[in-house]
Amino acid sequence: MELRDHEFERLRAASEDGFEFDGLKLERTPDGYVLETPVESGTELTETEFRTALEAVDEYVTNWRYWQEAVDGDGTAGRAFLRWCERAPTEADGSDASLPVPGRYEALRDGIDRTWGQLRVTARFLDVDEPDGERVYDLWHVDDADTPLSELEVYDQPREARDISTYDEDGQYRPLKTAPTLRSGWAFTGLSGTELVDAVDFFYPATVANWHREREGALDVDHWTETAERQTGIYDVIDELPREAVEWMAEACCVDSQCLRRREWQYEERDQLDVDGGDGKFPCREPCSLVIAAARKWAILESESEKTYELELTTSELNQLEELIDAVAEGRVDDVREADVNEGANRYRARYLRAKRFEDGSLDAVESSEPGQ
Ligand code: SF4
Repeated sequence: MELRDHEFERLRAASEDGFEFDGLKLERTPDGYVLETPVESGTELTETEFRTALEAVDEYVTNWRYWQEAVDGDGTAGRAFLRWCERAPTEADGSDASLPVPGRYEALRDGIDRTWGQLRVTARFLDVDEPDGERVYDLWHVDDADTPLSELEVYDQPREARDISTYDEDGQYRPLKTAPTLRSGWAFTGLSGTELVDAVDFFYPATVANWHREREGALDVDHWTETAERQTGIYDVIDELPREAVEWMAEACCVDSQCLRRREWQYEERDQLDVDGGDGKFPCREPCSLVIAAARKWAILESESEKTYELELTTSELNQLEELIDAVAEGRVDDVREADVNEGANRYRARYLRAKRFEDGSLDAVESSEPGQ
């Protein structure tokens, strides 16, 4: 590899103060230049020898070139995300197993896959035969990991991710971008690092930024009570939601089956909710607008007092009511076959129950007493 003059000048200048990046260490000592990698080392080098030694460790130098020249924004969330994509060591590595440069170069020839929610990111070299360090990124749905590109709709503009993510597989609007209902059948190929980060942000807004803040120990979490108390207008009522109802709400909306963010907010800083926050890669730092809107409805409903009703049902009909609620809550209604009358959520079973137990459009139930009466 031939080092460009301005690159050599940057590396030479960096060595004056001592330099280390991804296993490449450079230093200027009174006796000459020092170059070290995990497999090579040279000391007391003249300037010419130093340049030759740098050209001999081309993987380390082209790696440095990519990260210093093609990817800007030292310390930014986007840069940290791109390094995570190829398992490069980062300041906040956590539990991610990182790859040293030679192993990473080997892996980038085939492509390194990472999963981000329902997104699959592949980092690879632009030129596989003669890698000059330049990476490109492919992005598609995890369910399409084994689908040939020719069978997918191929896009190259990050903002097109916004349209893809607006509706689910059935054409239903997705009010929560991080719900696990992203439709498959599309791919972005050959994105630059900046384009990849933009596309991911269109799919899952702010997830890269919050993931980065969390890794840096700087995630500012707004818990339920502080979020609820600062609401105004029609949402002013949500701070009246009882604490146990906040538990039910988190179970209804925030668990992994409903949202891919990992809920980090609690009832209060020192009052944790019992419901599991989930295992998502990226954190949720405050109750979202969908939860706030739903909380308003629940706050109004929870203000009603409980009553006791008498309702005649067979045991099987009671079981069927439970099955119906369960099927709706789990989004399984469309999976229940019309011919399967063994299912409590079967349409004919539901129509039969309605025909038998409804009077004038509602359950034939009689209010018997209020609690405590
Ligand atoms: S509040 Fe709950 S539903 Fe909303 S983004 Fe956070 S975890 Fe997801």
